[in-house]
Amino acid sequence: MPETSSSLLEGSLDAELQELAAAGLRRQRRILDSPCGRIATVDGRELLNFASNDYLGLAGDAGLARALADGAVTWGAGSGASHLVAGHLQPHADLEAALAEFTGFPAALTFSTGYLANLAVTPTLAGRGDAVFADKLNHASLIDAMQLAKANGADVHRYPHNDLPALERLLAASNARRKVIVTDAVFSMDGDLAPLPGLFALAERFDAWLVIDDAHGFGVLGAKGRGSLAHFNLPATPRILLMGTLGKAAGVGGAFVAGSTRAIDYLLNKGRSYIFTTATPPAIACALLASLQRIENGNALRQQLNANIARLRDGARDLPWTLPASMTAIQPLIVGDNQAALDLAQALWARGLWVPAIRPPTVPRGTARLRISLSAAHTADDIDRLLAALKELA
Ligand code: PMP
Repeated sequence: MPETSSSLLEGSLDAELQELAAAGLRRQRRILDSPCGRIATVDGRELLNFASNDYLGLAGDAGLARALADGAVTWGAGSGASHLVAGHLQPHADLEAALAEFTGFPAALTFSTGYLANLAVTPTLAGRGDAVFADKLNHASLIDAMQLAKANGADVHRYPHNDLPALERLLAASNARRKVIVTDAVFSMDGDLAPLPGLFALAERFDAWLVIDDAHGFGVLGAKGRGSLAHFNLPATPRILLMGTLGKAAGVGGAFVAGSTRAIDYLLNKGRSYIFTTATPPAIACALLASLQRIENGNALRQQLNANIARLRDGARDLPWTLPASMTAIQPLIVGDNQAALDLAQALWARGLWVPAIRPPTVPRGTARLRISLSAAHTADDIDRLLAALKELA
């Protein structure tokens, strides 16, 4: 390509990057020179980490690392192919069976990431003649999935956050062949819960599918960490498709969708982000089988996490920033202005505390925030250190 045309092309990118920077929205990564644990080391400095989704502290667990290493020795470094060709190995099958049993559904299908799992579900269920009903604050991957369904010809409706009456009106007005309600179970930027019993009742009444993204509830909420459905005592019925991610509380990576045998078979046959991608390395499934055991026996970890959540919320009451109601590991401190949120995150960083500033478009304009992510790995002293620094900066 001639020099001039390439610099013109680059110039247009640069202009946009500079716009982002001017708005306090240009992103950058930090390189960790340690594992991403309770303490993370960046540029040789140790930081107390409130930025990860490792809610049970399993990402650094020696037993899981051993299961991963042993799995690689036994099954190889890679899967070699997509699941439907030649990449579906015994550990993948064992993991699917274990996830189905754990969640109470007849069947489960594993994916490389939660993003890909979400991309498989909504656009596969909903095409021409169908309709999707999605919460306005759904995760980006669910929004992208909804856009794909739209491209397939589905009508898409976004209802105001957790607004059951608004959803009811939309469902009542729809004469779509298949109706698909899609929601986060725990909203990823606010930590609040979806009203799953009400959503389920509407799904029953209007004969709709209910697609639930339990990325932040799986492993943490409900008896034995079975997730948000267990938290609300909802049944694992055929009209529900439950997505869970395996890189957060489960501490490894990947995701699954659980549902009826027929729904899972349908996804396996039609879900493009399942079919057209290489299966995850089988050793990941080996580590996840070990992780599932830790989750099932992890009441002490969940108790520690809940104690940390209560301690933070209790101590944050006098702070000048709003801490919306959230009983989960995600605790957002709403700052408002993008630059103010960045400055606060920077001041905490200078004090050895890593709390990410989350800005638009990830969250609505004017609601930039610090997203404090708590973990069972944190101690009471860790929470107190964060509170003391926030009080000093208030
Ligand atoms: N859904 C929600 C609610 C999430 O928060 C995330 C991860 N940020 C995902 C899906 C995507 O999962 P993964 O990171 O495994 O791609």
